[in-house]
Amino acid sequence: MFGNLDTVPELLKNYQYKTGEKHKFLGDYYRLMIEESPTTGVVINNYNMVLNVQDVSSLSHKEFVLDMWYREQAREIFVEAMAAAIIKAAPYQIRFPDLKIYRLDNRWGACSPKSQRVILNLELIKTPKECIEYIALHEMLHFRFPNHNLSFYGALGTLMSDWKEREDMLNRKYRLT
Ligand SMILES: [Zn+2]
Repeated sequence: MFGNLDTVPELLKNYQYKTGEKHKFLGDYYRLMIEESPTTGVVINNYNMVLNVQDVSSLSHKEFVLDMWYREQAREIFVEAMAAAIIKAAPYQIRFPDLKIYRLDNRWGACSPKSQRVILNLELIKTPKECIEYIALHEMLHFRFPNHNLSFYGALGTLMSDWKEREDMLNRKYRLT
């Protein structure tokens, strides 16, 4: 029912953090509810996203509390997706890397084999788990295949036959800018 909101790229939205505003989490829309509370945090209740804040009038405070919650969720869900990618890619014996989560405006992830590091875009937390799993696997495979060559796509296609649909979904429905 909120489908046409998808036409505005996420990072270009001008959120006001008001009750009734729609915010994304794992590919679904939730209705924001602002509540004044001595303890800050977010509670998901049905399709409501209850944002408990001390100062309901401060946009930056509300933005900060929601951002912290997204980061906590991202840490947990991205680690799960990376662990699943390691199991999927077992023949390649990839070790769990150093994971950094940043908000990026031009890419979903990056891999640095030299420093044993994967960067995942915080914005992925707003996309479906299938998309997060795809990006995790994609970046992890770069430890074995640094470039986007035929071997890389061969391994990706074998381990995740529908990776292209997942990538298309990201590019079509979850554009960053
Ligand atoms: Zn890549």
